[in-house]
Amino acid sequence: MRILTILQIITIFIFVTSCSNSEPETFKEEEISKKPEISEEIGNKKETEHKDNAKEDKEVPVDVVKNLSQTEEKPMYVINSTDWKVEPIDKDNNEKLVLLTIDDAPDKYSLEMAKTLKNNEVKAIFFVNGHFIQSAEKKAILKEIYDLGFSIGNHTMTHTNLNDLTEEEQYNEIIELNHQIEEITGEKPRFFRAPFGSNTDFSKKLVAEHGMVLMNWTYGYDWEKEFMNKDALADIMVNTPLLTNGANLLMHDREWTNDALQKIIEGLQEKSYKIVDPKKIKTL
Ligand SMILES: [Zn+2]
Repeated sequence: MRILTILQIITIFIFVTSCSNSEPETFKEEEISKKPEISEEIGNKKETEHKDNAKEDKEVPVDVVKNLSQTEEKPMYVINSTDWKVEPIDKDNNEKLVLLTIDDAPDKYSLEMAKTLKNNEVKAIFFVNGHFIQSAEKKAILKEIYDLGFSIGNHTMTHTNLNDLTEEEQYNEIIELNHQIEEITGEKPRFFRAPFGSNTDFSKKLVAEHGMVLMNWTYGYDWEKEFMNKDALADIMVNTPLLTNGANLLMHDREWTNDALQKIIEGLQEKSYKIVDPKKIKTL
């Protein structure tokens, strides 16, 4: 009789344990699949060679908190997944915010741009491509940018439009780069930006599963011919009507952007914008 009771208790215990183990998994799946899809707004300005196929993109939720990275500071901001603006978590926070991002790094000017930012005590995300970090010299440059305190984002291995790739190819474009960046810096990227802002349902899910925040941008100009010089670029980046609270500024590793960067930082600060530290942006 007593043995039977013990067996019953054990059986009940196993049943309860297995249920509670499986629940979070089921819940997570449902959370992801049940999220309403929101159509994507691409920034008013599009990145170089942007193609139309991004318009079919759908959103992935960004409101699940898990696995804060070791270097992540207490989150104060989130990226809005419909307009890519940076917003305070605390709605009483009235700071005027901007986020600086530098794509196609580290090609030729990223390290100098990082030093300019550092001299001004402001932060940015450098979105890196795999083809720029294949030599020992370029790996060392990426490490130096990381060690200067900048966040390293994933911009894919080869800067190919994800809509032109199979799911397996997309996986390799994104995950292989994460591995390579982690090998160099010791930290996995927390941010992802697709080449040309051209996301796919598959890549969005993959990026979310790997704990990265996906973002396109609000505006940028350094790929337009008339702004490929220091003064014109510094002027438009600060005086465009698209500069509003939370704007996500897209710049590239380019000569004229490097030249204009100091003036851009000063112009934003003169207009009382606070340049957000990406380490304070909430990850997935
Ligand atoms: Zn790019």
